Amino acid sequence: MYQYLDIKTIHLEISSKCNASCPMCARNICGGAVNPYLPLTELSLQDIKVIFPVNFLRQLNRIYMCGNHGDPIIAKDTLDIFKFFREKNSSLNLSLFTNGSAQSEDWWKELGFVLNSAHFSIDGLEDTNSIYRRGTDFKKIMQNAKSFITGGGKAVWDYIVFQHNEHQVSQAREMAEDMGFHRFVVKKTGRFYSNQKSKVKTKQVILNKKKEIEGYLKIPKNPKYKNRSLQREDELIQKYGSLEKYLNQTQIFCKVSQEKSLYVSSEAFVFPCCWTANQLYPWYFKKRSSQIWKLIEQLTEKEMNLNAKKHSIKKIVEGDFFQKLIPNSWKGKDINKDKLKVCAKTCGQEFTPFTDQFISKSS
Ligand code: SF4
Ligand code: SF4
Repeated sequence: MYQYLDIKTIHLEISSKCNASCPMCARNICGGAVNPYLPLTELSLQDIKVIFPVNFLRQLNRIYMCGNHGDPIIAKDTLDIFKFFREKNSSLNLSLFTNGSAQSEDWWKELGFVLNSAHFSIDGLEDTNSIYRRGTDFKKIMQNAKSFITGGGKAVWDYIVFQHNEHQVSQAREMAEDMGFHRFVVKKTGRFYSNQKSKVKTKQVILNKKKEIEGYLKIPKNPKYKNRSLQREDELIQKYGSLEKYLNQTQIFCKVSQEKSLYVSSEAFVFPCCWTANQLYPWYFKKRSSQIWKLIEQLTEKEMNLNAKKHSIKKIVEGDFFQKLIPNSWKGKDINKDKLKVCAKTCGQEFTPFTDQFISKSS
């Protein structure tokens, strides 16, 4: 893995709180009740000043707020934190990823002045966006996006295609152009995959807070909106015997080692990436039983060894978790034992659902 001085990019989860409940997000159970294991936390400006020394900020090229469990527009200090980053390193590329459905128009305008870009996750039009972005308000999102653009920010419209919104892609693209969005990105989600069964799935249930079924999300019909890796399941089974056997064998090409990026969670835990950090609180496993906990249990102070409010990022990155435990697991032969399944699934050779979200069929 990289060294401290190599790090150029920070992926920051400023909060695990959110105004929405998307059915494929780890913060809730299929769009319903909040994940019972999840601590609802956020980092304050004061925390950020402790975690990110100015010298470190000066070595970075990019900081973006996204995360596994929360939306950055919910944290109370988000704008001030971005202003602080800008003040300490004026050339930083600053951005966030959001559902866009909170905060005032003035807040967004000011954010547009401070940030380079904001990715608005808008998966449909007024009648369909909230089927996935449950709890959001389309009119408010559009107003906020307009304010952000007026403030001088580059707005990007990220559109996840499902069966229920695939007929609206062109109309949304036109709307994005008319409104002055900088880019419109079609995303072919790789989340139609069962982590428990290591199998591709064609639909996912949507639950309400009482765990009652409200509907299903389905893979789009049009092949051009389907995730390439998910479509390769049969081919890989033919070649390796099963997807699990492929994952056992695949070599790992760690994306963040190449990008020199680092993930900081809303609890100030430092991980190489959001994917490994996302193994902390999967609601469908027993608490603290996922593979990543087996590595954390080997650290002297357990998860506190990874806490940037307690230890410097330098010390954490130079410690065993980054330099030994994670990279050593890549040499393992069994995703149910010694090889991190999340690494095999995210950064393997032939099955890369995350990367393929952005790849069109012809490329
Ligand atoms: S908006 Fe983002 S953080 Fe909130 S529920 Fe949806 S995916 Fe999760
Ligand atoms: S999932 Fe594993 S291999 Fe991939 S970027 Fe994260 S640490 Fe690296």
